[in-house]
Amino acid sequence: MEEGSREAGLRAMAETMKTHACGALRTKDVGLTVRLAGWVQRRRDHGGLIFVDLRDREGIVQVVINPETVGPEQFKVAESLRNEYVVTVLGEVVRRLPGMENPNLATGEIEVVAKELEILNTSAPPPFPIDARVDVDESLRLRYRYLDLRRPELQRNLALRHRVAQTIRKVLDEMGFYEIETPMLTRSTPEGARDYLVPSRVHPGSFYALPQSPQLFKQILMVAGYERYFQIARCFRDEDLRADRQPEFTQLDLEMSFVDEEDVMAVIEEVVARVFREAKGVDVPRPFPRLTYDEAVNRYGSDKPDLRYGLPLVDVSDVVKGSGFRVFSAAVEAGGVVKGINAGQGSGGWPRREIDQLGEAAQREGAKGLAWIVYGRGEPRSPIAKFLTPEELEAVGRAMEAKEGDLLLFVADRREVANEVLGRLRRLLAAKLGLVDPEAYAFCWVVDWPLLEWDEERRRYVAMHHPFTSPKPEDLDRLESDPASVRARAYDLVLNGYELGGGSIRIHRRDVQERLFRALGIGAEEAQEKFGFLLEAFSYGAPPHGGIALGLDRLVMLLAGGDSLRDVIAFPKTQRAQCLMTDAPAPVEPAQLRELSLRVDPEAAAAVRRP
Ligand code: ASP
Repeated sequence: MEEGSREAGLRAMAETMKTHACGALRTKDVGLTVRLAGWVQRRRDHGGLIFVDLRDREGIVQVVINPETVGPEQFKVAESLRNEYVVTVLGEVVRRLPGMENPNLATGEIEVVAKELEILNTSAPPPFPIDARVDVDESLRLRYRYLDLRRPELQRNLALRHRVAQTIRKVLDEMGFYEIETPMLTRSTPEGARDYLVPSRVHPGSFYALPQSPQLFKQILMVAGYERYFQIARCFRDEDLRADRQPEFTQLDLEMSFVDEEDVMAVIEEVVARVFREAKGVDVPRPFPRLTYDEAVNRYGSDKPDLRYGLPLVDVSDVVKGSGFRVFSAAVEAGGVVKGINAGQGSGGWPRREIDQLGEAAQREGAKGLAWIVYGRGEPRSPIAKFLTPEELEAVGRAMEAKEGDLLLFVADRREVANEVLGRLRRLLAAKLGLVDPEAYAFCWVVDWPLLEWDEERRRYVAMHHPFTSPKPEDLDRLESDPASVRARAYDLVLNGYELGGGSIRIHRRDVQERLFRALGIGAEEAQEKFGFLLEAFSYGAPPHGGIALGLDRLVMLLAGGDSLRDVIAFPKTQRAQCLMTDAPAPVEPAQLRELSLRVDPEAAAAVRRP
C-alpha cells in the first residue's frame, strides 16, 4: 500500500471509534491495523508490559500495551485502567508467540499491539464480576441488569433469541403471512387468567385490559379477509407466578383461514424445523408424532409427555381385579384402576431406602401408597407378592414386559390420581435412571382434547382451551346431553415435557358460538357484553379459520439449554412480578390518581409495602 493512502486509511480509522469487533479477530486478520472499542475485562501488569482483556459483545481479545510503542503518557493511562472502563484502542493484530496461545479464547491465537489508547469512560467497581463462571445472587443480577446482560451467557441467549425471531419472520413471510400488530390497550380477552387493567383518564371508572393474547383480534383479522396473520406478540396475565412463568411474555401468534388442523400443524412444523436448523444447527425429524389426549395421559400420565424416554404407564386393572390383594381389587371395584411402571433393568437392585423414597414421592403427589414388586422367578422380593397368585404375578409381568430383576411400581386409585402420580414418578425415574438426554429434542402433538372440563369450584364446565375452540363436528350433537364427551379441534405442541404452545380450529358460525357459550353457562347478555363484537363479526361472512400460539420465551429457553425464562428475557420480572432495576410497580403521585379518578386503599398499600 502506498504511504499516502495508508495514512488516509489510518486517519479515517482514527475518526471512527471502532472498525472491528474485539471477539471476532482471528489469525486471518494478522497484519491489520484495527480500531477496537469495548470494556476492560481485566488488566494485568507484567514487568513493564500491560495486558488488557478487551471485551465487546462478540467476545474478548488481548491487547498488549508496551511503553515503547505507546509512549510514557499513554502507558500511564493504561496503568489507570480498571474493570469495566470503556476504552478505544488503535493497534496491530499480531500472531501470539509460540506457546503463548490461549486455547480457551476464540481469539487466543492473536493479540493486538496497541499504538494508541483512549479512555472513553470510567466505571465504578461492578458489584459482581462480568463473567460466565461466577454464581451471582439473582436479585443482585436483576437489580444491575445492564451489568448482568454484559455477561457472555446472556449475550449468547439474546443473540439466539434474535436469530429465532428473525427466522420466524423470514419463514412466515415466505409462506405468505402478514405481520400485523394488535392493540395493547383493549378489552378483556378470554384466556381465563386475571387481567392487568389500565385506568382510562378520559373515561373515569373505565379500564382497558392488557391482552392475555391477541385471540379475538386475530380471529377478527380472518373475518376481515387477511387469511394469514402472525405476530410476535406480548401477552399479559396477572397470575401467581410459578418458576417458569412471567407476567408479560411473548408468543408467536398466528391465524389462518380456509384451513384444518393439518394445515396449521404443517406450518408450525416448518417454522420450528427452520428455527432449530438456523439457531441450533439441528435437523428435527418430521412429521412430529401425534398422540391423542387420552393416549398421552393414559400412557405417560401427562398431557405434555416427555418422549425422550419410554417408561410407559401400564394398566393392569383387568389382571388384578379379582385379586386377593384387597388394595388392588377394591380400587377396581370402586371404578378406579391399578396402573404400574416398570423401572427397568437393574432397578430391582435398588436398596429398600430408595424404593421407600419413591413411595414418599408418590404420597406427596396424592397417592395412598405405592406397591412394588421386584419381578423374578422363585420368590419375588416384594411386600405384596404374597397376596398375589403365581398366575397373577406372571400376568402382571407379561403386561409390563418385565424381565428378571425389574422393579415394578403400582398405584391403585381413581384413574386421574393414578395417572397423575405415575406421570410424576415416571419423570423422577427417568432422571434417576439417567434416561434424559439433554441433547435430544422430542416433539409431539397432543390432539383430540376434551372441549370442556368440569370446574368443581365454579360448579360448571369451562373451556379447556378457550371458548372459541371448535368442537369436532361429529361430537357436536352431544354438546348439551354429554358435554364431557365432546372433543375439541385443538392441538398442543409439546417438546421434552414442556408445552410449547397450543391452538385450535375455531368456531366460525354465530349459532355454534352461541351454543357453546350456553354450554359454558355464559348467558346471552354476558356473551353480548363481552364478545358481542365477535358474534356480530361472525354474522358478516366469517371464513373457517384456525391458529396457534407458541411461547417464544420457553422455546428460546429450551434452545439455549437453560431452565430459567429470566435468562432469555432482557428485562424480566421476579416471581413477585417486580422489576428490580426500575423498581416497578411503584406508587404514583396523588395528583395522577386524582386525574384518573382513582383512590387507593391506604391500608392495603401499607400492608404490602411493609416487608
Ligand atoms: N390464544 C391462545 C393462547 O394464547 C392460542 C390460540 O388458540 O391460538 O393460548
